[in-house]
Amino acid sequence: MNLIFLDIDGVLVTHHSMSRMMKSNRLHRFQKSCVQELNRLTQKTGALIVVSSTWRLDSDWVGTLQHFRSEGVVGDVIGRTGRSEDRIRGHEIQDWLDEHAKELLIDSFVILDDDSDMDHLSKHLVQTSLDGGLRRYHTDSALQILNRRWAAKSLVVAGEGIEPSRPSRATGA
Ligand SMILES: [Mg+2]
Repeated sequence: MNLIFLDIDGVLVTHHSMSRMMKSNRLHRFQKSCVQELNRLTQKTGALIVVSSTWRLDSDWVGTLQHFRSEGVVGDVIGRTGRSEDRIRGHEIQDWLDEHAKELLIDSFVILDDDSDMDHLSKHLVQTSLDGGLRRYHTDSALQILNRRWAAKSLVVAGEGIEPSRPSRATGA
């Protein structure tokens, strides 16, 4: 299984789409070209999406998921990262991986984000910017990362506090 840890502002929302949504008074518009690039990535790799953006903290999570569809995202969102004490995004992603690695058989993952606080997961990062969001050359880099088969072993080494006996049921928390 391939995964995309997805930031939104700076990846799907750009300066351009922000100015458009201010004019049209509609919130949270994604830039079409960025959505197309995300769709290209998920369609080529079958990757599933985990939201790592602060959008995940929105109280209306179901509404956020519906918004993905209404903005044209075709890939499936299977979850969202939690909040780590230090709020370093790389640690929040590692926590999610630690929790799900046993049940999901993850082959590879890529992080799409305009920030760079990924710590030891930096080699998985494709860094975008608010100027243009996700562009074709970013997607090409992401494809390369996802095609690099990623040994589950490295996750165990990288992840601190992994609990092999953790039950694999979804808690819904
Ligand atoms: Mg961002």
